[in-house]
Parts: sequence; C-alpha cells; structure tokens
Amino acid sequence: MVKFKYNPQSNVADEFICHDEVLESLQFAKEHLHDEEMLQNILYTAQAEKGLSHREALLLLMSDNLEINRQIEDLAKKIKLDFYGNRIVLFAPLYLSNYCVNGCTYCPYHAINKHMPRKKMTQEEICAEVTALQDMGHKRLALELGEHPTMNPLDYVLESIDTIYNIKHKNGAIRRVNVNIAATDEESYAKLKNAGIGTYILFQETYNRQRYESLHPTGPKHDYNRQTEAMDRAMRGGIDDVGIGVLFGLSTYLYEFTALLMHVEHLKAVFGVGPHTISVPRLRPADGINPELFADCINDDIFVKIVACLRIAVPTAGMIVSTRESKETRERVLQLGISQISGGSKTSVGGYSHPENKDDDSAQFDVCDNRSLDEIIYWLLQNGHIPSFCTACYRKHRTGEAFMKLCANKSIHHFCQPNALLSLQEYLTDYATPRTKELGEKVIAEEIAKLSPESAKFVLQHIEDIKNGRGRDFYL
Ligand code: SAM
Repeated sequence: MVKFKYNPQSNVADEFICHDEVLESLQFAKEHLHDEEMLQNILYTAQAEKGLSHREALLLLMSDNLEINRQIEDLAKKIKLDFYGNRIVLFAPLYLSNYCVNGCTYCPYHAINKHMPRKKMTQEEICAEVTALQDMGHKRLALELGEHPTMNPLDYVLESIDTIYNIKHKNGAIRRVNVNIAATDEESYAKLKNAGIGTYILFQETYNRQRYESLHPTGPKHDYNRQTEAMDRAMRGGIDDVGIGVLFGLSTYLYEFTALLMHVEHLKAVFGVGPHTISVPRLRPADGINPELFADCINDDIFVKIVACLRIAVPTAGMIVSTRESKETRERVLQLGISQISGGSKTSVGGYSHPENKDDDSAQFDVCDNRSLDEIIYWLLQNGHIPSFCTACYRKHRTGEAFMKLCANKSIHHFCQPNALLSLQEYLTDYATPRTKELGEKVIAEEIAKLSPESAKFVLQHIEDIKNGRGRDFYL
C-alpha cells in the first residue's frame, strides 16, 4: 500500500486527509490519555480561543478524566458565547428532487431502491413549497437534491435558485439559499456562486477511504478523491463560504473527528480560511436503512462531547445541528457550540405544501424533532437563546476571510446582535403565535438594553418601522 505523508497544503486527498497521520494521532492520543499535564496544557492553549490542532483536540475528546471533561464543557460554552453570542440562526432544508444515480448504502435515495417514489418539483411546485416556507417565517433555505445528471442537471438547480429568490409572498422572502448538492466541477461552482448562493454544503460522509468506497459501491460518488477535494474546487470556483461535515455512524467517530479537523487545517493552509460551517449529522432510520446495522453509531454523550471539542478546536466556524436530533439532544448541544439549527423541517420532496401526507414515503430519513417552527422559536427563547433569521452577512459581503476576521476578533456581534433582533421582530410581527410574540418582545427589550446607544437606536427605530408596516429587512 502506498504511504502518504501528511501535508495540509497539498491538493491531493490522501495527503491532506492522511490515513497514516490519523492512525498515528489515535495511537499518540491513546498513549497520552492519562497524561494530565499534557491535557491541562492543551486546555491552557485552548483558552486563548485560537483553536487546536487535530491531535490536541483528539486528546481532549478521548479523555475520560471528569475534571478535564468539566473544563471542556465550560470552555466550549464560553467560546460559543464569545464568538456567536446567544444567537441561534434558523433554516429549513428544501428537497427539490430525490432522483439519484448513486448507490450510497445508508441513504434511501440510492438508485437501487426501486420502491422509493421519485419526485422532482417543477418551478410551480417550488413556488408552492417556498410560499409555505415563507408562511412559516423562514428566510434561509438549504437546497437538497440527489445526484442525477439528466434529471437534476446544474441548470435545474440554477433555475430553481432564481425562482426561489424571486418569490415575494405577503411579507415573506427567502434571503439566503445554501446549497447541498453532490460534488461537482469548478465551473459549476462558479455558476452557483454567480446565482447568489450563501454556503455550499457537502458532507464527506466518511473520511476513511476504504469505508467510503464500500459504502458508495456505485455511481460517481464512489470516487473518494472527487468528494474529498470538492471544497478545493468550490473555493477555486469563487465560493468562499463552504460547509463541511461527516455523517456520524458510518465509521468510527475518533477517525472522523481527527480527519474532519485535518480538513479544516487543509482549507486554512491553502485558502487562508477554514469552513464557514461544520455540520454534525448522525445516521437516522430511513426506508430500508437500519442504523443498527452500522456498527459505529454513537451515543448521545459522545455526540455532545464531539460538539464541545469541535467548538474548542475551531472557534470561528458556525456549527449546525438538524432535526435528525431530538429536542433533548439539541438542548444539550445548543449551549456547547451550535449556532444554527433547522426547524419545522420536512425531508420529502413537496412536504411543506402537502403537510397532510404525514407518512410521505419519499422522505429521506425520519426526523426526530417534529415541532413546528413556532414551537422551536418559543423553546429557544425560553432557554435564553435569541432565534435569528438574519441573512445580512453575505449580502454585505461579509463572507470568507472578511467574515472570519470579524468573527475571530469577536466584533461580529456589533452586526449580528442588532440584525438578529430585527429579524426576530419581523418573525414575531408576521408569523408568531401570541405566546411566542409576548415572550419574544420581552426578550428583545432585554437585549436592546445591553446594546450600545447607537445600535439600540437603530434597532428601536426599525422595530417601530416593522410594527407599523413601514418596511422589512433592516440590517447592518
Ligand atoms: N446528493 C448530495 C450529495 O451527494 O452530497 C447531498 C444531498 S443528501 C439529500 C444530504 C445528506 O443527507 C447526505 O450528504 C448524507 O450525509 C445525509 N443522509 C443520507 N442518508 C441519511 C440517513 N439515513 N440518516 C441521516 N442522514 C442521511
């Protein structure tokens, strides 16, 4: 077998996600697991809030020392507040088409699944879905599609993005469209950028090449290099906000965690900026998929610790948890580092405009948190978070390095906090139930009192504008 040397600056998948370096890191961590001085030194380094190397973070993740684990939690909570405040950004996934030519063994959309009803929305159907999402209060979407060169070509994705941005229904508007489509070429990424997307999201699924190839036996997704080097092509194509993640449960979590951080190191080394977001999806039951068959499922405690250690290792990256997780698990990880969540989600094609199809068999996987968006907003407010529908950053060109600089020096709050409050007020005025409105307005008043006089004036003035119907979409 060919030996590769770890090189974060390389553009060769096996060099920046170097299998031997992962194994050596695991061995190193095992040998130093009970070296309390080393663990304390790592925590000391982490307190500077400039992140950790993959080896340092792995040692923290593997530690079973109760005092170290307590310190990890405390630090993760502090970093979350220092970099992302108490804001939680809301989004919804929108499934456009489940036609797929790949053979991913864990996903019911795989081409061999002949009893899965296949659906691809027309532009009119997309309008109906987006109108339903706007009526819930959503402003930010993540587009989801299977990979199919003839059914879901890039032109279909581009046309759909254009349709979505142009739907203005009552006071609703989708102001940021993120895209989660299969790995593609640089030219296509450039076209997505020109279409005005926010983040390009692609989950690696698993960084372990051997496991990856066996879980993706057929279709273009079988190509490990294509998947692993995709973010390089996306960034060269001009997309400076990329979102990475692994599907936890497909391979051993220690391997995935280490490799994920090596991916972060690679993007920083080559492009000067790490991922805009890190997602932490966990494998879910789905049509014909029994997660128990996958031996590497992780329990809630490990999942929570992964989130805390990622928060410490990459303080500037936004972190996303979806409705794959239950209310209880989401409650635990929200304080430890999550900055974005989905709410009121449907994982089927056409699920928002036809909610009566409760057992829609085109769903990708079972959602664990089935609450409505309003219930989620109420719960966030009750738990001391500020639900935010803000989409200002990319419209103000605070993307890529520009965003990371503001985030790293902790000055992003000057924009995000007023913007979050104004976007929340829009939600409360246009969509909230009376109890959510009452609690939300109380929280907004408390938060305004903590702002600088200048920011408070800006927020108060535009809150009046929103309440009196003089306008929407105010932001710094
Ligand atoms: N087709 C795109 C691709 O190949 O990257 C992505 C779209 S897919 C709709 C989004 C993600 O859903 C996948 O990247 C995978 O991680 C996740 N997924 C697939 N099956 C899943 C399951 N059974 N449970 C949880 N997540 C799953």
